Amino acid sequence: MKIIMLGAPGAGKGTQAISIAEKYGIPHVSTGDLFRSNISNKTELGMEAKSYMDAGKLVPDALTVRMLLDRVSKEDCKNGYVLDGFPRTIAQAEVLEAEVKKLGEQIDFAIDVEVPDENIVKRMSGRRACLKCGATYHIVHVPPKQEGICDQCGEALVLRDDDAPETVLKRLNVYHEQTQPLIDFYKARNILHEVDGTKDRESVFKEIVEILGE
Ligand code: ADP
Ligand code: AMP
Repeated sequence: MKIIMLGAPGAGKGTQAISIAEKYGIPHVSTGDLFRSNISNKTELGMEAKSYMDAGKLVPDALTVRMLLDRVSKEDCKNGYVLDGFPRTIAQAEVLEAEVKKLGEQIDFAIDVEVPDENIVKRMSGRRACLKCGATYHIVHVPPKQEGICDQCGEALVLRDDDAPETVLKRLNVYHEQTQPLIDFYKARNILHEVDGTKDRESVFKEIVEILGE
């Protein structure tokens, strides 16, 4: 099963992708997490990506596509994956479609998590992220069991540099200009499903399971 998560930054794509990965036994592939791990490891790719990320911009397609294709070519992705944060441009979607087609396969579901812009800025200021395992929390809506500590791996949680309100507004603009057109792209392929991301985490997941099947 190959699934794409769509939605604005902070809509809850990662939160839902982690639950999907666990229930359906497929890897959660987040391009944002891959970039952040490259930054932590001070790789050349990480250093190049960081300046774009800190500015709230998209990392250029060439770098992003190469990193993503490398990840999905790994053995653990052969039965499918849930992509979180990729594709973010039509060009990325076209490359992914072509690559999947080469294998005689297809993307099965594109799930758009809908949250209005007004809610996003509030959510992002409360987001806390684990840079080690990629889990995210919210200080009010999705708190960790122990304040400031990741439930999954025990790492200290951080407020991401690019979650500062002024950067979030830039990222929302980039989303509307470059990523939102993907909704029509996948609608045209009859695989788009919309869910109401303003509901609580469990209710959103229930809607998603209805789409994907038990
Ligand atoms: P994305 O991957 O789309 O950028 P995240 O999954 O990291 O978004 O979620 C953004 C923030 O919103 C996080 O702080 C997360 O804990 C919180 N969150 C996720 N889903 C919900 C929800 N249904 N209701 C309220 N807050 C949520
Ligand atoms: P995310 O963790 O998905 O919110 O991504 C954080 C940042 O990483 C984004 O704001 C972009 O700068 C960069 N990024 C992640 N995925 C992509 C992508 N598919 N294309 C371009 N840039 C990306």
